[in-house]
Amino acid sequence: MEMYVAGEWTSGADEDQIRSPWSGETVGSVPRATAADVDRALAAAVEGARTMRLLSAFDRAEILNRAADLIEDACDDLARTISAEEGKPLAEAVGEARRGPDLFRLAASEGARMHGETLPLDAAPGGGDKLGFTLRQPCGVVVAITPFNYPLLLVAHKVAPALAAGNAVILKPASQTPLTALKLTELLLEAGLPPLALQTVTGPGGELGNALCSDERVRKISFTGSAGVGRRIAGVAGVKKLSLELGANCPVAVLPDADLEQVAQATASGGYVNAGQVCISVQRVLVDRDAYGDFLDALRPKVESIAVGDPLDDGTQLAALVSEREAERVEGTIRRAVEAGATLVTGGGRERGVVQPTVVADVPDDTELWREELFGPAVAVRPVSGIDEAIALANDTQYGLGAGVFTRDVNHALRFAREVDAGNVHVNWTPLWRADLMPYGGLKGSGIGKEGPRYAVEEMTELKSVVFHGIER
Ligand code: NAP
Repeated sequence: MEMYVAGEWTSGADEDQIRSPWSGETVGSVPRATAADVDRALAAAVEGARTMRLLSAFDRAEILNRAADLIEDACDDLARTISAEEGKPLAEAVGEARRGPDLFRLAASEGARMHGETLPLDAAPGGGDKLGFTLRQPCGVVVAITPFNYPLLLVAHKVAPALAAGNAVILKPASQTPLTALKLTELLLEAGLPPLALQTVTGPGGELGNALCSDERVRKISFTGSAGVGRRIAGVAGVKKLSLELGANCPVAVLPDADLEQVAQATASGGYVNAGQVCISVQRVLVDRDAYGDFLDALRPKVESIAVGDPLDDGTQLAALVSEREAERVEGTIRRAVEAGATLVTGGGRERGVVQPTVVADVPDDTELWREELFGPAVAVRPVSGIDEAIALANDTQYGLGAGVFTRDVNHALRFAREVDAGNVHVNWTPLWRADLMPYGGLKGSGIGKEGPRYAVEEMTELKSVVFHGIER
């Protein structure tokens, strides 16, 4: 496919092949953008931002609602593209694609609700003759940089609210999964988006990122990806609005009164969806000592029954990770935890890009499996003694994106929700659950800012105060 810059579909001097993580077959190719392409995209986006700012909220909503209809019609093709380039089972890709239309409709309605408020200036000393109000206006140029793991959903969570709020967007999708983003770009243009309002630039973030993120024509950067790249972006961004949706290491606490069958079922899903390559994947399970053995007995057969195979086959629940290198990294992290004294309950093996669904028990504190983000199909389980230790261990991480607690005791649930520093806390479910309308974003090292159309529109707009002086009464 070609990339879309300055109102034109453009091929580059160099191309990158996109390969299926499962079969290794080429599923498409995209241009490798250069610094000159980035500069053209920035100049065009400034023009695009002018056009977008003049569009009424009504017109913006019409475009996004039309795009939603087109995405709905294209769901099957989008799902196949997601599965082909990212490697997730087709059923999961279908679920991802089907969230697209509603997300665009939601963003359209939030963009039509951008308003300010009147300011009670007569309550300020010397303010008696003044009238004040706030206006919300678009940021201008928004740079959206997205990760590989949800090639449609996480692109839509940036592009839809940015456009709904009246901005122009430069989208840089992950190098492993640019095809879905380019198809979405086609649909937005077909829906009537002004040609310069979106630029979709493909190529290596390591080479293009600095130019995109440091440029003063950009007012807002919305990034989802790893903590390391997030820090790099924060280092070069300068004076800009910044949203960073970064990594995680999500804990789940299981108290002795929990329904262990339910917990095991939820964990066997929440740790292994998209082969664990989800920022809100279950990684650490903190189980009360009284329930520890029974929980492992309940979890093991459920994890062992996860169907591993070709992502396009009916019934497949887990396929390859995004690359063989990633699979090797995950396998190594599991192996080192076992060498450090953890017990392999099931899994641990790897064949090319596929890591078996894995459970590791008694995982020591100082292992990468416990401390770092895994982003693979394994959960680490540890016994704890009561709610205090569960909360302390849940918080004993640099990250704070999602957390869950299973208990029937409302006081324990409330304490967990109040005291665990995570952006989303779930009671009687794992963190792997998201409604697209929710505020979504991490605390601590998991980032800054919130997504979800209502919150993203707020972050992609600026608030201006207007004061009229000398109003006669
Ligand atoms: P990544 O390696 O950080 O890449 C993310 C994006 O940043 C890609 O488009 C990448 O381009 C680009 N990039 C790389 N270097 C850059 C630089 N110096 N400047 C600007 N952009 C640069 O992350 P990933 O492996 O794709 O995704 C996995 C990570 O995303 C995990 O840590 C996961 O937790 C996180 N994530 C977080 C959330 C959340 O909501 N908090 C959601 C999903 C994923 P290239 O692909 O070309 O390198």
